Amino acid sequence: LNRRLAEFGTTIFAEMSALALKTGSINLGQGFPDTDGPEEIREAAVRALRDGRGNQYPPGPGVPELRAAIVEHQRRRYGLTFDPDTEVLVTAGATEAIAAALLGLLEPGDEVVALEPYYDSYAACIAMAGGTRVPVTLRPSEETGEGVTDRRFRLDLDELRDAVTDRTRLLLINTPHNPTGTVLTRAELTAIAELAVERDLLVVTDEVYEHLVFDDAEHLPLAAFPGMRERTVTIGSAGKTFSFTGWKVGWVTGTAELVTAVRSAKQFLTYVSSGPFQYAVAEALALPDTYFEEFRAGMRAKRDLLATGLTEAGFEVFRSAGTYFITTDIRPLGESDGFAFCRSLPERAGVVAIPNAVFYDHREAGAPFVRFAFCKRTEVLTDAAERLRKAFA
Ligand code: PMP
Ligand code: GLN
Repeated sequence: LNRRLAEFGTTIFAEMSALALKTGSINLGQGFPDTDGPEEIREAAVRALRDGRGNQYPPGPGVPELRAAIVEHQRRRYGLTFDPDTEVLVTAGATEAIAAALLGLLEPGDEVVALEPYYDSYAACIAMAGGTRVPVTLRPSEETGEGVTDRRFRLDLDELRDAVTDRTRLLLINTPHNPTGTVLTRAELTAIAELAVERDLLVVTDEVYEHLVFDDAEHLPLAAFPGMRERTVTIGSAGKTFSFTGWKVGWVTGTAELVTAVRSAKQFLTYVSSGPFQYAVAEALALPDTYFEEFRAGMRAKRDLLATGLTEAGFEVFRSAGTYFITTDIRPLGESDGFAFCRSLPERAGVVAIPNAVFYDHREAGAPFVRFAFCKRTEVLTDAAERLRKAFA
């Protein structure tokens, strides 16, 4: 293993999912739904396979039906317009989009400012591209509420400004944010946009949880802020929105120049992928608004169920305004090391979770936080909550 990758080892998701299997625990670690998405969309994939659509290499940028559907989705939801022929690229999930964006845009030695904690592939892909990561730590806000606290992880705008140097090439943003469940506010996004314009930075924004926002939170795409369309690569994914994480259909939108840079890297990574599934995702993106509303309402109920269970078990629960994750603080349980806690949790409670520290460069800043996924069936969440209450309350 080379020096660029040596520090990363095996991804935490593989390690924890294996632990769940081995111990027979409820897996609230890796974020994937335990129920497939809409039957009609699964049928659309079967039809594509049977009709021979996408069984051979699809076109490099993605099948025209899907590119048109992505453009229409961005227009309908956000009023953003893109040219389906030059400003859209279909990728092997958001994971490949992240990798190809960084490989296609960074020069060796470029600095990338990213919000910490960050999704684990960011650090590895920055390293593979020869870049240097500069983390800006999201920190819990001070206000407290009753029961499920109203605390959220906030971006310190001064820290963000201070992190930018003459070597900074791009900002790597993620909203709604994995693992904290934070949805960046209009004020935070405005500040990010102003900074990007002022310092002439590119922005890569991972918005795979765009449809998973709860209560009064609103997903605002960075590309829609003033001065941002020409400098922003936006990443989306069908995995989260339609509950088909195994299909690995993601996409990138941006200017022709930026999308060409991403595509230049992508063509040598996978070239193309997921042929028949691309046709099915094109149909999924065109589902009526009621699909998205019901999906969101269902996830919000799951969030509430797990948040209540975690609170009753004694965890401090941060408000999850988006994604399918809840971040907790384990210190009220008398614990302080999330790694040790997650390694012992299967034995103590029969539940698997993810230590947030794996998403930090400043490991100590993430030490007491543990992430639980709530994208599971009600009975599974009820069982997990009961096990946690029994073990800790
Ligand atoms: N970005 C974030 C923030 C994620 O949480 C995930 C996956 N859970 C991805 C990207 C990868 O998405 P995909 O499965 O489409 O590759
Ligand atoms: N993104 C998912 C999570 O955060 C996992 C995806 C993966 O295993 N790479 O849990």
